[in-house]
Amino acid sequence: MSEQRLLRKAVSDVSSEIEKYTALESSTVDDQLLKQAECECCGLKEDCTTDYITRVRGCHCGIWVCGLCSEVVKERLRRAPETAMQDAVRFHREFCQKYNSTTRLNPKLSLTCAMRDIAKRSNENRSFKNWSAPKIARSSSCVPKIDFKH
Ligand SMILES: [Zn+2]
Repeated sequence: MSEQRLLRKAVSDVSSEIEKYTALESSTVDDQLLKQAECECCGLKEDCTTDYITRVRGCHCGIWVCGLCSEVVKERLRRAPETAMQDAVRFHREFCQKYNSTTRLNPKLSLTCAMRDIAKRSNENRSFKNWSAPKIARSSSCVPKIDFKH
């Protein structure tokens, strides 16, 4: 075996070792800083810091929910303050699961729209209590209308 060949082998061994360590190091850093959290209600995945995940879990009885779901849960608690946080989260999770299992067309998007709709509707209700302007027509809804007549 020529010296040159040996040297080349040694170099490639060293560089693969370096690669291994670099990969190890970066994954350790990722674990500390960013972690993928999956919303236990709608299933949305977000990259969050472990600190943030712990904080969100602490606020929702150990359940991690995404920003939008946490808004809906908060809204539910505002409307029914006697509801326990755990029940509010569970209720919302059931709502999401039901929605996901019944909506065929792009469930994630429709669910997001439905949640925004809930938040929007409750905002409208709140403002109508103190302010009696002519009713603003809702332009369009991305949620398919449910027809109760058969
Ligand atoms: Zn969510």
